[in-house]
Amino acid sequence: MTPQPTRPAAGRHHVVIVGAGFGGLFAAKRLADADVDVTIIDRTNHHLFQPLLYQVATGILSEGEIAPSIRQILANQDNVRVVKAEVRGIDITEKVVTADLGGKDAAFSYDSLILAAGAGQSYFGNDHFAEFAPGMKSIDDALEIRARLTGAFERAEITTDPEERRRLMTFVVVGAGPTGVELAGQLAEMAHRTLRGEFQNINTEDARILLIDGSPQVLPPMGKKLGRKAARQLQKLGVDIILNSMVTDVNQRGVTYKDMKTEQETFVPAYSKIWSAGVAANPLGRHVAEQAGVEADRAGRVPVNPDLTVGDHRELFVIGDMMSLDRIPGMAQPALQGGEYAARAIIADVEKGSPAEREPFSYFDKGSMAIVSRFSAVVKIGNAELSGFIGWVLWLGVHLMTLVGFRNRFVAAMSWGLNVLSRNRWQLVATRQQLHARNAIRKLREYEDKDGVRSIEVRDNLKFGEGRDTRADAD
Ligand SMILES: Cc1cc2nc3c(=O)[nH]c(=O)nc-3n(C[C@H](O)[C@H](O)[C@H](O)COP(=O)(O)OP(=O)(O)OC[C@H]3O[C@@H](n4cnc5c(N)ncnc54)[C@H](O)[C@@H]3O)c2cc1C
Repeated sequence: MTPQPTRPAAGRHHVVIVGAGFGGLFAAKRLADADVDVTIIDRTNHHLFQPLLYQVATGILSEGEIAPSIRQILANQDNVRVVKAEVRGIDITEKVVTADLGGKDAAFSYDSLILAAGAGQSYFGNDHFAEFAPGMKSIDDALEIRARLTGAFERAEITTDPEERRRLMTFVVVGAGPTGVELAGQLAEMAHRTLRGEFQNINTEDARILLIDGSPQVLPPMGKKLGRKAARQLQKLGVDIILNSMVTDVNQRGVTYKDMKTEQETFVPAYSKIWSAGVAANPLGRHVAEQAGVEADRAGRVPVNPDLTVGDHRELFVIGDMMSLDRIPGMAQPALQGGEYAARAIIADVEKGSPAEREPFSYFDKGSMAIVSRFSAVVKIGNAELSGFIGWVLWLGVHLMTLVGFRNRFVAAMSWGLNVLSRNRWQLVATRQQLHARNAIRKLREYEDKDGVRSIEVRDNLKFGEGRDTRADAD
């Protein structure tokens, strides 16, 4: 049964924001001085700067540097309440959001809703690949990947079987978009530079790093020329690039891919597999689209009106990675600009006291970039294409400006500076918990689903099965 929906006592216009990523956070900030109450709900306690996840995975930055606490960021904003909860449903007719608040149901009624819950990894219908090939969408993912990468070298050091050693020192990255390229590049630098000489029985420079993609080039959205430059740089670092090839299987032993031209299948024995090949919008998108009578696209994105609202619901904004509009890409800037636009539209309505006229959302493209190695990045801004050292300097500047919080900018700048000067990396801590937690939690959820019992409180150290009973006949 849905609990009684709550709303702030002040009786002002209530804006609920789902998700404190780029879209949600910038919407909340823009509403700072508005005559509204804001409830921002996120299932994590941090605002994650996803573009730098690969640096956490490869030991350059620590997780805190790219994921400041949402409460801390918004602490001085009096009209905002931060709620750590997982949104499970939205009733767009009743204007109620329901969420799991630490194992208890909670409901929030809203006057305006900004839905900014982002996207998850897509395995294109092969979800079973996930067990062996984590994606890179969260801090947990990045830490698991770090534990897998460092663990692979440790295991290779102690094995006496040359074939197994080769498997342990083979790393497969699936997907040659910006994330795959950045990860493969940093992984190559880690193996060939950082770890060099640290082991007695293996030469980490023997590590084989494969980057596989179904398209004919790396970084397809950045065009052929930059794609070629990035590929050349990666090859110089020792990355094997396999294009026009679809991954058809991933299991514990390795990866099978199929050459799209010859149809030939190849199995690569590999201990470490990382998936960065596809995204699917948060399922909440499809959930609201169905209610609004619009059809989500294949990736689950919601087609929005020019003012980022859905169907006839001018109070319901869907932004960022969840929206589909004019082929605007799923990137940080569209999400951030969409959040600010939605906030401005709400303020205009509240100030006018009735629906105000809205200019269509217009996305200002600030370009896209990917770092390939320490001194080399590719950058595309409009028709201008930059690469190499200049690209890298631009990349540094932009990322330092967009990281949230002075301390994080300062610490990241120091880490990058040290990374340039020294071959060491200082964030290579890896624990068994990082390595196993994701699959352990998934298995636990399977047991829970089977028994009709969910124990989300497991995180709070209750024993398995002590959680709330969610069977249909339970109250
Ligand atoms: C590894 C990686 C690298 C990237 N690199 C770049 C890059 O170099 N440049 C670039 O421009 N873009 C990059 N992106 C894309 C960019 O990060 C996204 O486009 C952007 O974060 C989208 O913002 P958003 O607000 O829509 O969603 P997000 O930033 O993903 O935020 C969604 C928020 O919703 C929360 N949430 C999700 N579901 C629920 C729920 N049910 N209940 C409560 N809260 C929920 C999540 O915890 C999260 O905080 C990268 C993405 C990844 C994964």
